[in-house]
Amino acid sequence: MSIQFIKEIKYAKLLSPLKDYQADEQAVEHRLDPLLNRETVITPGRFQYIKRLFESDEKEILNVIENTRASCPFCPERIQASTPKFPKEIVEEGKIVVGETILFPSLFAHMDYNAVGVLCKEHYLKLSEIPDKLCDGFSAGLIWLKKLHNYNRNIKYACFIENYFPPSGSTVIHPHIQVLASERPFNMLKDLIWRSRKYFENYKTNYWLDLINVELEGDRFIGEINDIVWLTPFAPMHTYEILAISRRFSNLLEVGEEYIKGLVSGIKSVLKFFQDEGLSSFNLTLYSGPFGEDSSDYFRVGLKIVGRSGYRFPFVSDLWGLQTLMMHGEAYEVPERMAERLRKYF
Ligand SMILES: [Zn+2]
Repeated sequence: MSIQFIKEIKYAKLLSPLKDYQADEQAVEHRLDPLLNRETVITPGRFQYIKRLFESDEKEILNVIENTRASCPFCPERIQASTPKFPKEIVEEGKIVVGETILFPSLFAHMDYNAVGVLCKEHYLKLSEIPDKLCDGFSAGLIWLKKLHNYNRNIKYACFIENYFPPSGSTVIHPHIQVLASERPFNMLKDLIWRSRKYFENYKTNYWLDLINVELEGDRFIGEINDIVWLTPFAPMHTYEILAISRRFSNLLEVGEEYIKGLVSGIKSVLKFFQDEGLSSFNLTLYSGPFGEDSSDYFRVGLKIVGRSGYRFPFVSDLWGLQTLMMHGEAYEVPERMAERLRKYF
């Protein structure tokens, strides 16, 4: 076992007007991501102050739903005419339909290969209602990735992304997923793959299986469903950040129905927890080892979900310069405490 959880507590000192200018100090816990070597600060002193900004205003939510419905390109009355088709050499039928999901190329691509899957007919779903539509969405995306892999063996890197509600960066309210693929790796995936490979070269074991073994009995473990282990990361980039690791699969082209069902079941528990916490927005990514290569020695398929700011005036983003420019993680809640609250949902 070669995983080290390194942390150091420092204190910010001040004369606080809240305590009649008496000396006060606040704990700032520095943590190092054991694989990526990336720094994070845990600042739980801010959580009560900041928590209301993660909660949403029901009136504002209803307002944005109603104001976007009439022009929504993904609502049933417009989706056929407003969405593009794949080139015939990749998808003969033009679009991929699985259950309620309709998958087509993005009209304004983020990546060389970029599919969008509209998950349902409803223009808006509560967080806890989204997972019921996700099995079809993941299945449709996987069909496309397999076709893409057959079409061009140089496309090695892929991920699913879901952005939900405006604070997540999503421009369309209507529930949908993105599937991205390229010959070039996404930055975070490149780092994960490279460092996982280095770990295997150094210690002759798989980092992700070592991580599961060490976390299984610990305070950050949340639950396990169909060989997928859920936990909070030791050094998260964000406050509401949850990680799921597959014990079995290193490549998304290998996963089957049982994996998807287990994954969606876990996502359902997380989103129910987020909803009960007052959240309405999240980012999710499901990532894979390189296609066409055996990465089972050193890698495992993973999923990350991050709960984002609430939708309420004055629409403060939970990401500020520390994260977006200095690339330094900050979480306002201790990951072990977050895991304790979420564990009840699994
Ligand atoms: Zn819509």
